[in-house]
Amino acid sequence: MHHPEAPYDVDVAVIGGGPAGMSAAVRCRWVKSYRSLPCSVAVFEPGPIGGLAGWRTCSITGPGYRYIGDGLVTRIMTDFERYAIPVLPHRVTMIRKSNAGFSVQTADGPAIRALSVVVATGMRPLSNERHFLGRGLFVTYMGYEYFPKLFDRIRVAGRRGVVVFGNRKSAHLAELAGPLARATDVLWVIDEPLAVELPDLPGRVVRGRLKQVDGKGSTSAGFDAGDRNDPAAPDFERDAAAGVERVQWVDEHGEEHTHDCSAILLDYNAWENQTRRDWDKLGLDDDGHGFITIDPWCSTSVEGVFAAGDVTGRYRSTAMALGDGVNAGLSAVRYTYRRKFGSEPNLFAYRSADRSLSATERDLPSVRDDDWVVPLVPMERIHAVLRARPLPREAWLDGAIDVRRFVEALSGDRSAAVEVIEAWMDGKMIAIHRMPEFE
Ligand SMILES: Cc1cc2nc3c(=O)[nH]c(=O)nc-3n(C[C@H](O)[C@H](O)[C@H](O)COP(=O)(O)OP(=O)(O)OC[C@H]3O[C@@H](n4cnc5c(N)ncnc54)[C@H](O)[C@@H]3O)c2cc1C
Repeated sequence: MHHPEAPYDVDVAVIGGGPAGMSAAVRCRWVKSYRSLPCSVAVFEPGPIGGLAGWRTCSITGPGYRYIGDGLVTRIMTDFERYAIPVLPHRVTMIRKSNAGFSVQTADGPAIRALSVVVATGMRPLSNERHFLGRGLFVTYMGYEYFPKLFDRIRVAGRRGVVVFGNRKSAHLAELAGPLARATDVLWVIDEPLAVELPDLPGRVVRGRLKQVDGKGSTSAGFDAGDRNDPAAPDFERDAAAGVERVQWVDEHGEEHTHDCSAILLDYNAWENQTRRDWDKLGLDDDGHGFITIDPWCSTSVEGVFAAGDVTGRYRSTAMALGDGVNAGLSAVRYTYRRKFGSEPNLFAYRSADRSLSATERDLPSVRDDDWVVPLVPMERIHAVLRARPLPREAWLDGAIDVRRFVEALSGDRSAAVEVIEAWMDGKMIAIHRMPEFE
């Protein structure tokens, strides 16, 4: 996926592997069932793939249907495997402009050069917290009338201390949390930049964010999703079993801390009102609360950057996130295609074909000698489609190869080389990288 020899590493970098990011990535790689040129794509996700949809109850819901969230993630993962979509387990710390497009930098991993970026970071970065749902980890959700009961449950589970993760909007909880702070030790870890004053809250208040929960977690933990036979039935939280033992959190200077506790509260109510984009060196326009402003095509204020899902601040729903992902993914495909080939791709809606069609129409772009052929799936699969035409060793796709060298490896037979490249394009097995043609 790293192609130092080619003009950039991927066509599209997707930041966040929740339903919005997963849906965008699959769209970029697959585009549509018929003839189309896929984009190379990489997804950055520091937590478990699936984002909040991995929390079981965060499902596609209507009163008459219910796709339980983690089942949905498992389904989408089959597409990730089918199309070999790489997931980089790193938190993105900076996105900035670079000569070909954008440079995406991570906390502890590689920097990637991309022509386009899809931002799908939701309300916040996730770690392993979902493994502790029902095991001492609580969430502000379900409606305000539920909150006093929620605090009762936290008090019972939190005898050895409680840590609340939130932001400036957690001030909403100050009154409710008063009795809790008189009964047990409460630490508030507030994710805000140094310039923002920390809210006045009952207990100790520090600046930072959650890194990891430690204790007896379980990969099958989660909310119980209502009654499986009655999609309209509400979700419920199991009574908290012992699980949480301590948390690791990171302060504003990157220093790690550990704190013993037996309960954690994640203040999603605060994150729904305020989010943070500490990685944004592009200055994306937002609504004043950190949520990115988009147009109907999921375009942001910076050309080449698209946003999808909860990070746009509209209704929080898995179905919205999936739909946005399709929208942002196709917009990124269109954007990169235009920049590389100076023309419109034929997307499935055929918006670009509002003209008389001729007998010589092409769905795939013509390749140039200075293009790069970039493998997207393992070599065996790439070569399997060419069984009738074994390639000389010099033409194997061990990494990116430029078309000129590929033609040479096929004894200078350009039309044979193009035929092979088109068979690979058709199988959605390669991308074509080309330095952008226009600014
Ligand atoms: C308690 C709760 C219950 C819910 N129940 C339902 C429900 O029943 N039905 C429904 O439709 N919706 C429900 N939702 C809403 C639904 O889960 C979200 O709308 C949906 O998951 C949003 O998808 P997303 O991809 O935008 O964000 P997320 O699912 O939050 O995914 C964003 C991903 O981006 C990653 N990320 C963040 N920052 C970075 C970074 N800097 N670098 C790399 N990665 C990063 C995160 O780790 C995360 O995995 C619920 C939400 C909550 C909190």
